[in-house]
Amino acid sequence: MSDKFDVIVIGGGPAGYHAAIRAAQLGLKTACVDAWTGKDGKQALGGTCLNVGCIPSKALLDSSKQFYNLTQHFDVHGISVKEPTIDVKTMIGRKDKIVKQFTGGVAMLFKANKVASYFGKGKLLKGNKVEVTDNDGNSQTIEAANVILATGSVPVELPFAKFDGKHIIDNAGALDVNDVPKRLGVIGAGVIGLELGSVWKRLGAEVTVLEALPDFLAAADKDISKAAAKEFKKQGLDIKLGAKVSKAEVKKNAVELTYEDKDGEHNLTVDKLLVAVGRRAYTEQLLGDDTGVKTDDRGRIEVDDHCWTGVDGVWAVGDCVRGPMLAHKGFEEGIAVAELIAGKPGHVDYDTIPWVIYTEPEIAWAGKTEQQCKDAGIPYKTGSFPFAAVGRAVAMNEPAGMVKVIAHAETDRILGVHMVGANVSELIAEAVVAMEFKGSAEDLARIMHAHPTLSEAVHEAAMAVDKRAIHRAN
Ligand code: NAD
Repeated sequence: MSDKFDVIVIGGGPAGYHAAIRAAQLGLKTACVDAWTGKDGKQALGGTCLNVGCIPSKALLDSSKQFYNLTQHFDVHGISVKEPTIDVKTMIGRKDKIVKQFTGGVAMLFKANKVASYFGKGKLLKGNKVEVTDNDGNSQTIEAANVILATGSVPVELPFAKFDGKHIIDNAGALDVNDVPKRLGVIGAGVIGLELGSVWKRLGAEVTVLEALPDFLAAADKDISKAAAKEFKKQGLDIKLGAKVSKAEVKKNAVELTYEDKDGEHNLTVDKLLVAVGRRAYTEQLLGDDTGVKTDDRGRIEVDDHCWTGVDGVWAVGDCVRGPMLAHKGFEEGIAVAELIAGKPGHVDYDTIPWVIYTEPEIAWAGKTEQQCKDAGIPYKTGSFPFAAVGRAVAMNEPAGMVKVIAHAETDRILGVHMVGANVSELIAEAVVAMEFKGSAEDLARIMHAHPTLSEAVHEAAMAVDKRAIHRAN
């Protein structure tokens, strides 16, 4: 007889483990099936985010930032060190320790919440049954009234630049390089390309980023992407726009690239090539025959606004469904679905998803860009404020960047908030709260912000919407 549950979650990444823990909290008998194997050969819960994504990349971004500051910025404070060095193996070891701490943390949370954990690959069968196959090929079948599919995504591979784990690498490979490459090539100036390109640039690699689109960070507000591009250029990140790569050949321990831009064909030789051209839903071999669950032309599971697949008791959340591939979007979908299953009003507001890119300076935004307002014919007004005029930012030696608030021209309701600068990954939360409460630029402007803090840039940008910023000419 198979084990029976109220809820089975396939996938223990951000979306899946949130769904499982919330379902268990609500008194539902819950199981989670996950196949991720850690470096020690044991199950490592937490998916891409904890194993090879958000957390390890932040560990390396922080290590490399410390080293970069030591070599580039400490002198203004009167601090000098003779010949600073970086031991990359220690840096990678620190990252691995953090990963283990957090993947183990999810396992502990499962135990504490009585979520049954299955180590293996899950496949949805007809009638809400799930076949679990372990690494040795042994299978068992479990069943539940509700199954939540949360299988995440995998890196897109370019046909002419297949990952070999040594010279041509994906995000996971770029987190496990044991020596600073002399020349690193990156295909794709997206989130991963910029974050991991920054890590290795700060440690001394020559980094060339090849981006197919003519615009830099096309999804961001133009003022923000322009300010960010200026800073990256100063740091020596060589970002080539409108550059279409057509060939990547591994020769003599290097990768020879051919790309074309408006000036014609070029060649570039690098020691390592990071391919970061996006991710795709990971749904291969997930669905058995006649389950009724549909996938779209990009392999994503089709769902409605409440993450329901249209099949009784089958839901899907996170990167394997429509919407941005962001861990926190998956968290909220997982929680909402668990609540809907328990008969509660689960809900996700897709209009206020915060976006963050952890470069230096950081980039963050929520809501509409100026271009999106223009395209939609929404009357708007804007206010912006530079960190160079914020006392705390200058005292921190972090004067780069700005905050921009976009509000409706007639109602003053905040439509979007865009930032580039130090710690804006934290500052964006205030904008999300304001937007969730349907706040106006005036609301933000009239709220007292502590002095001296970086958050004063948000305050002043909101005041600038009404041309009444104090610390700059309006
Ligand atoms: P991305 O979509 O952010 O960027 C990919 C870039 O590659 C795009 O700019 C695209 O124009 C470019 N590109 C595509 N094909 C190309 C080609 N053949 N030649 C040159 N350029 C090409 O994708 P990503 O950086 O791989 O990240 C994958 C996903 O992971 C994203 O959805 C991202 O949101 C998510 N992620 C988020 C964070 C974060 O929130 N900080 C961090 C890492 C990853």
